[in-house]
Amino acid sequence: MDEPLSIRGVKRFMVDEETTIQLPEVRPNETNARRKVAIIGAGPAGLSCAYFLARLGYRPQVFEGESRPGGMPVQTIPAYRLPREILSLEVRMIEGMGVIIATNQRLGRDFTLQGLRNQGYEAVFLGVGAPSGLHLGVPGEDLKSVDDAIRFLREYNIRGSASIGRDVMVVGGGNAAIDTARTAVRLGARSVTVLYRRTRDEMPAYAEEIEEAEHEGVVIKVLTAPVEIVAKNGRVCGVKCQAMTLGEFDRSGRRRPKAAAEEPFVVPADQVITAIGQKLEPAEILDGLAVTLNKDGFIAADPLTGRTSLDWLYSGGDAAMGPSSVVEAVAGGERAAVAIDAQLTGAGHAFWRKDRECDVPFDPGADPAKYPRARMGLLPVERRRNNFNEVEQPWTETVAICEAKRCLRCDFRDKN
Ligand SMILES: Cc1cc2nc3c(=O)[nH]c(=O)nc-3n(C[C@H](O)[C@H](O)[C@H](O)COP(=O)(O)OP(=O)(O)OC[C@H]3O[C@@H](n4cnc5c(N)ncnc54)[C@H](O)[C@@H]3O)c2cc1C
Repeated sequence: MDEPLSIRGVKRFMVDEETTIQLPEVRPNETNARRKVAIIGAGPAGLSCAYFLARLGYRPQVFEGESRPGGMPVQTIPAYRLPREILSLEVRMIEGMGVIIATNQRLGRDFTLQGLRNQGYEAVFLGVGAPSGLHLGVPGEDLKSVDDAIRFLREYNIRGSASIGRDVMVVGGGNAAIDTARTAVRLGARSVTVLYRRTRDEMPAYAEEIEEAEHEGVVIKVLTAPVEIVAKNGRVCGVKCQAMTLGEFDRSGRRRPKAAAEEPFVVPADQVITAIGQKLEPAEILDGLAVTLNKDGFIAADPLTGRTSLDWLYSGGDAAMGPSSVVEAVAGGERAAVAIDAQLTGAGHAFWRKDRECDVPFDPGADPAKYPRARMGLLPVERRRNNFNEVEQPWTETVAICEAKRCLRCDFRDKN
């Protein structure tokens, strides 16, 4: 009919209104509390698995390789998009439910899956994400001042500082590329350019993030691919680029970029950061265990249960799906928690999944409100430099209620 309902904005309003930790309903269960269940990785998938197991009375043990729980949302997604206090509040809530999180415990370095089994863990959830960046595979990639986005963002967000060049070139078109570019702007780069080999319409990053990056001065150069990182006296001085055009459709349903007829050209840069995808390092974490991988090199897991080729090992989130989203990871963690409980107890205890009756009176004859989608308020561009203050500003209650009233209530209409 018109633009979609701003579900994220409405949810954001509700979360902003919640200033205290409210523990959800937990069903105490002495037998479950004694069972040993391990969760590896305290990202959205692992924390969600822990949260739902805790609701069923389990006390799962989470092992996290980094010094802070939270996964990519704390390690790489910049604070101007996701304030850290909100994340800490949620982690504290999960700990308050009886979940124990051990940090600086890395699978493959400090313990092994087989070791957990030997210690009596009956089920293990593998939620290690897709922690490493992919390589570009062009000459010059080994030079100093060439980094990948995951490592760069992790350096800044976890260790507290990252070195930044004057003229920064970011390669890629997803959220990681845009987050890197906007982080570079905030850390004081003089110019930041994003190179993407397809067109803007194909960029996987959220459209509003791309737009805000441009408002902050980032140059988006589409249909351009790097072919070599150029150095002078061992120092990066530019990226040799090839103009691209779009050819036939590929497996992903997008048109495959191919080199255009023009000659390559060099764009000056003294730092290059690549954000062209992420991978799992199976050899490091599986330690020779025969766990089946999928064709993309991630853990092969049943999409409904997260069960892997080993009957005690579950997986979900990016580790199984490849780079995806926080919501998908949270859903994967929940599905695995329900499946682990069903395997250990033989019962389906997921009480929170029962169909909820809508308790808001609804007039089936009423038409949804007809006015445009509400926009998020934004911090003015001139107040975004040299800081990581939140860019999207909260709505007032009036805006949130007006936006919610644009809902067509398809759920209600479908049932009736
Ligand atoms: C820069 C960037 C921006 C993004 N922006 C968005 C966005 O705007 N919206 C969105 O929905 N999604 C976004 N995503 C994707 C989203 O962050 C991921 O899909 C999501 O975090 C996956 O959750 P996960 O729990 O599977 O993995 P992760 O979040 O990666 O968490 C895995 C956890 O496991 C730990 N770990 C890894 N290896 C080991 C080991 N060997 N031993 C112990 N612990 C280990 C890691 O330290 C980490 O804490 C973005 C991703 C990136 C990189």
